[in-house]
Amino acid sequence: MDSKAAFTPKAKHLIVISYDAFSEDNWDLARRLPNLATLMQSGAYSNRLRSVYPTLTYVVHTTTATGVYPDKHGIHHNNPLQPFVAEEDQHWFWFREAIKVPTIYDAVRKAGMNTAGILWPVSGKSSIQYNIPEIRALKGENQALKVLRSGSPLYCIQMELRHGKIRQGIQQPYLDDFTTKCAVDTIKRKKPNLLMLHLIDLDDAKHQFGTDSEEVKQVILRMDNRLGEIMQAVEAAGIKEDTVIMVLGDHGQFNVRYKVHLNKLLQDKGLIYEENGEMNWRAYFQCGGGSAYLHIRPGDAEAEQLALEAVKAYMEDAASGVDAVYTRDMLDPLHASPVTGVMLEAKKGYSFDESLDQPFIVDLAAHGIRYATHGYSPDKSGYRCNIVVSGRQIRQDFAFGELEMVDIAPTMGRILGVAFGHGDGRVLEEIFADAE
Ligand SMILES: [Zn+2]
Repeated sequence: MDSKAAFTPKAKHLIVISYDAFSEDNWDLARRLPNLATLMQSGAYSNRLRSVYPTLTYVVHTTTATGVYPDKHGIHHNNPLQPFVAEEDQHWFWFREAIKVPTIYDAVRKAGMNTAGILWPVSGKSSIQYNIPEIRALKGENQALKVLRSGSPLYCIQMELRHGKIRQGIQQPYLDDFTTKCAVDTIKRKKPNLLMLHLIDLDDAKHQFGTDSEEVKQVILRMDNRLGEIMQAVEAAGIKEDTVIMVLGDHGQFNVRYKVHLNKLLQDKGLIYEENGEMNWRAYFQCGGGSAYLHIRPGDAEAEQLALEAVKAYMEDAASGVDAVYTRDMLDPLHASPVTGVMLEAKKGYSFDESLDQPFIVDLAAHGIRYATHGYSPDKSGYRCNIVVSGRQIRQDFAFGELEMVDIAPTMGRILGVAFGHGDGRVLEEIFADAE
């Protein structure tokens, strides 16, 4: 590709819809639904989109928006490390400033185009012009106010006034219904060049009810209806001929039977301990469902050795939930964050949890609890994501093969005529109608 070609836009508008947790196991159902099927007829599609490690929402979405792997972009997890803080009380990587590299939405804005973001992860206080960032109120905070302070105030207020009655806090399906209405409204009134929308209903339902549940099927139907609303808005705005719509997943999920509370191993070794009435640590597992980071206090080689011995002893148990111990030489080819030198990968059917107030292993099925999660290696089988890219400028009804999450941002740039080729990915040239 010559550099000049990169500046000729394929389309004036690009709408990116992230269906959180939309993976290959949902493909057969989703592709038969009317709206996604329509997009596929007028576009290119694949169920072989490989995510990044670990497959956590903020890690992946940051790769989607930057075209680089987690070893460069700075977002290693949904949450910064917060030992001993309950999950619901932890703050997340909510703000753009945590990302260490250029983003596609900054580049598009810089090129003089207008941008919109609706619940796009890690976009708080960013350059996005019409922005409702994904942020959650912690104890004692007001959800709407917190969003307002981190997004575009006037736009947030307008959306809240017009559509806020649909929302019930951050409960689904109301939240995605609300954000879909915001997207529809924004497409019609603002005609943004780039709109990035994050829908969470499917991820929520998988976590709560399991990947193969009736509830998940119902969500997939709802997702198609939401997609239809957005497609209609594009038509109503009169921009259909000049719009590309991209729908994609960020990771799959696996059903979990056993929750393993890994930090118990470290507590038993004295690496997590109480001192003057406070919890302290020499080694600590920051867990992310299907994987965990082993944090060690800087320079404490003994703590690392003791922690690894404890893991090794646990792995000798045939019923251990640890699939693999990844040391740095294995994490580098996976382009995992340099934040730790060791990560653990869970077996299918198991997940890791960092809390210390539970038994070491909890059999969820024995408690009648359905649960699924993600965070596993993107190379586990049955774990690829789906993508559909549709528009007049895209090859029609074209099934393409393997692609990487790092390819998305440069391809978004190519569609809008913005060179964005500094990263790890490539432009998916094969999906364009004029591809040779
Ligand atoms: Zn996700």
